[in-house]
Amino acid sequence: MDKMDKFDVLQKYFGYSGFREGQEALIDSILNGQDVLGIMPTGAGKSICYQVPALLLSGITLVVSPLISLMKDQVQALNQAGVHAAYINSSLSESQISKALRLAAGGQYKIIYVAPERLETHEFLAFAERVEISMLTVDEAHCISQWGQDFRPSYLKIVQFIYKLKNRPVISAFTATATENVKEDIICVLGLLRPYVLVTGFDRKNLYFAVETPRKKDKYVINYVKGHAAESGIIYCATRKNVDTLCETLRGEGIAVTKYHAGLTGEERKQNQEDFIYDHSPVMVATNAFGMGIDKSNVRYVIHYNMPQSLENYYQEAGRAGRDGEKAECILLYSAQDVVINRFLLDNKEQNAEYEEEEIAAVRERDEERLRAMTYYCMTTNCLREYILRYFGEKGSKDCGNCLNCIREFEEIDVTETARSIISCILEAKQRYGMNVIAGILAGDDRAKLREYGVFSYQSYASLKPMKEIEIKQIINDMIIGKLLFITNDKYALLKTSSEADEVLNGDRSVIFKKAKEEPEKADKVSGGKKGMGKTRRSDILNSRGLELFEQLRDLRTAIAREENLPPYIIFADKTLVDMCVRTPFDKKEMLKVIGVGENKYTRYGERFLDAIREYTGGVHEKFYFGEEGEI
Ligand code: ADP
Ligand code: ZN
Repeated sequence: MDKMDKFDVLQKYFGYSGFREGQEALIDSILNGQDVLGIMPTGAGKSICYQVPALLLSGITLVVSPLISLMKDQVQALNQAGVHAAYINSSLSESQISKALRLAAGGQYKIIYVAPERLETHEFLAFAERVEISMLTVDEAHCISQWGQDFRPSYLKIVQFIYKLKNRPVISAFTATATENVKEDIICVLGLLRPYVLVTGFDRKNLYFAVETPRKKDKYVINYVKGHAAESGIIYCATRKNVDTLCETLRGEGIAVTKYHAGLTGEERKQNQEDFIYDHSPVMVATNAFGMGIDKSNVRYVIHYNMPQSLENYYQEAGRAGRDGEKAECILLYSAQDVVINRFLLDNKEQNAEYEEEEIAAVRERDEERLRAMTYYCMTTNCLREYILRYFGEKGSKDCGNCLNCIREFEEIDVTETARSIISCILEAKQRYGMNVIAGILAGDDRAKLREYGVFSYQSYASLKPMKEIEIKQIINDMIIGKLLFITNDKYALLKTSSEADEVLNGDRSVIFKKAKEEPEKADKVSGGKKGMGKTRRSDILNSRGLELFEQLRDLRTAIAREENLPPYIIFADKTLVDMCVRTPFDKKEMLKVIGVGENKYTRYGERFLDAIREYTGGVHEKFYFGEEGEI
């Protein structure tokens, strides 16, 4: 090959036969010398957008990235693909850094990852002056915005650095944060010149969403994890204590699990994180301290043992599932207790000492608002994906077909009478109480607090008995979503009626409640894959012989990963192994057609996988999958 183009690079180094949505346009702009800003959700494939042009441009590409672990992962993956890349950050010693820069100056590396702090150092500037820098890529570009939660002052150094360069390289910036403020900040602060801006949707089609309300969360988790043996997953808990206990429980069940939270020593955290990444312990139980910079692509499920504090947090954490584009599940285990835990966490949140009282109040209000939106997510009977997308300012379809609410059956119940009782109760209480008290009154609860409030003499007291409080709350939530009721935006969160509530009292409007049909022993069931092709995973297309081959290839991958001390998914992704089972290649030419097998990976591992396939099949072509070819 004399002159390679972007397709050659994609095939040769990454083993992919085509670009995904948006990738090509960004790459073309870069190659034309135009700055770009790519806003794409996690897992959309941002790295390819700068790695492919980096290999086609004449000089070096610098990639600024905030996280050391991310850099290491990316560089490992690139080296595996046969791309010369290196990283320079504080995990290296001074002499290692000098050596890396010397090699870089000698033209050893095409791509260099660098921490923003490093840009300012004398040594690095001297290096930058001596070499040709074709592109500067800013990964996680939202870190430059003071609007975002992740503002990093060191990102401002990037601007200084660009300014100091004799020749301005083309600049490409990438992020998954799409708010308008952040977008404008990136363009403006980084000084992008008439950039090509591409925003792809936030939807992660391969993720299945569910909210479950098991009576015993532990039992649910045990069953789920056992039902997904050999798969990698993360279980998020709200507190360190929850993490410790759940981890013990799962260990007691013989499950290979590890844990992560801020109470562990740095050494322990590092070790446990590696155990997870290298699949020694495929299951991770953790607080939200875990995950920044974790790029493990084969996480098949993320379970939230408790409801998080906001949808922002939830979508980010849940989004760590299925980065490889394969089907994955995001399950939130909800119980009313979760709201109490979160309130407590909010009440005890450390406020920024520099804030004025007003600002603290504003922050508090915002947090309350976020918590409420999160709680409604757990209550809604409508499409969960649509709910999330709408929250982030996007439109989704009302029936995604890949969330629990879209696939489960509901019965519609007329709850007009119940709704009337709820409204009457709120009015009788003079709109002075929150949801807990109102539901307690209606259920005829005998709590000391209610006695204190003197509500036992109310007409509405126990008027909905024998309904359970949780059932009443569900209907109240539905009424809030339907705008019959609302909650005040302060810390008291008082429940009030809207003007539309009158229509219900007057008999002009009925209220319909969608109730999920009870499924027997919910916890024992594996949630996804019930209906439609959309939810099946790639490995589901393999028949039993195919699955057996898949297991053998997976064992081979594990063995190689141990030999090379690399995470298995960096050797080959699951989808690559499945594609091998479908295509059953017997020679190099056929092997190179497998998705994710490029020239270099072939040279490294191709023969061993060919041998395994030949041995298993006895060299005879056999169909290892259901359905027609081309479905994968
Ligand atoms: P992001 O940085 O946007 O979160 P990554 O760059 O990590 O996403 O890519 C996610 C996954 O998608 C990786 O496994 C990557 O190899 C894969 N991928 C990216 N582009 C393509 C493509 N054109 N064809 C097939 N797989 C791709
Ligand atoms: Zn849905």
